[in-house]
Amino acid sequence: MTFPKQVDFSGWVCPKCKGDLKIEDGGSSCEPCGKRFNNVLGFPDFRLRYEDSKNQMVLARTFRENWDKLTYEDMVRLRFSGLRQRALARGKSPADFKMWDIDEQAHLATYKTRGGRHLSVLKSRLQQQDSSVDIGHLVDVGCGWGRDLLHLACLAKEAIGLDVSVFSLLITKKLLEEQGIVNATLVLAEAESLPLRPGCIDGINCSGAIEHMRIPGDFLRECSRCLGESAWVFLFYPNRFSVLPESHTGIWGLGYFSTARQKKIVLNRLGSEWETFLFSRRGFLRLLKSTCKYKKVSITGIPPGVEDFLSTSKFSLMFPHMYSVAKHILPAFRLAPGLERLVSFFCPVHFVLISR
Ligand SMILES: [Zn+2]
Repeated sequence: MTFPKQVDFSGWVCPKCKGDLKIEDGGSSCEPCGKRFNNVLGFPDFRLRYEDSKNQMVLARTFRENWDKLTYEDMVRLRFSGLRQRALARGKSPADFKMWDIDEQAHLATYKTRGGRHLSVLKSRLQQQDSSVDIGHLVDVGCGWGRDLLHLACLAKEAIGLDVSVFSLLITKKLLEEQGIVNATLVLAEAESLPLRPGCIDGINCSGAIEHMRIPGDFLRECSRCLGESAWVFLFYPNRFSVLPESHTGIWGLGYFSTARQKKIVLNRLGSEWETFLFSRRGFLRLLKSTCKYKKVSITGIPPGVEDFLSTSKFSLMFPHMYSVAKHILPAFRLAPGLERLVSFFCPVHFVLISR
């Protein structure tokens, strides 16, 4: 079994007390508070609260034991087939997991290109805001299955992929390996407690993850602690007031209801808990202002390059005509700030660039 060693990075600290770490056999421990951090299936584990479920660990071990036999696409298919099997065992019918079929299909069709489209949007935003495109250390928080990290790694000397889930990091590792990316390190950690030294990071990316965080404000606080001079955070979240169905559940207009009502609707329709927080532009700005200091922030639903980015989303599979129309009319809306703001109000996602 081959399992390449991770790139070294000297910026790790204890996620709990931010003290220095002592490297030990099979992990590390914090000198001031004494907390021990073990490695899990080859990844340093800096998580304080999150634990993988039993099913997730079974999947992760399957990946690890069959590392040389499985491809990235095999791993993605195994994840979705596991989800379907468990749903069937719980008495759900295949119609109930139509969204997973669309997710899987869209993911397999676009995983090599989507990160590149994301990178184009990021670069155009950075240039507009006079922020640095060429950086030393970049972190992808909530890197998931690695499709953004794959392309983000070319912006930085060293890239760090961070996620709470072991099986997801294994999928990411496979993708980076298949595509020949060697300047990325992967660690298990929580966005609200980053195991990173103050000021050691030049850029943080967070794609569609902040809406799943337990305390998103803590993540924003952690970002400003870890970022150095003239560094930035780039993130996107699904817009609460999107005209399209809510992206996780496929329910139209979900964000137009109160948070309590959203929980009831999702429970009734899908039989599952709803822990996702849907931000609006105003809601996000309010949170940002109350949690950290920044020099500049811009939020838009239609940055240059978004047409190509959206063509890799699952919605372009569901509504192909809508996307071919959007491709032609979006550039016109960018010409006037008032129009841009109006259209952004209804866009499926909001892109945020925060500069220090
Ligand atoms: Zn500590």
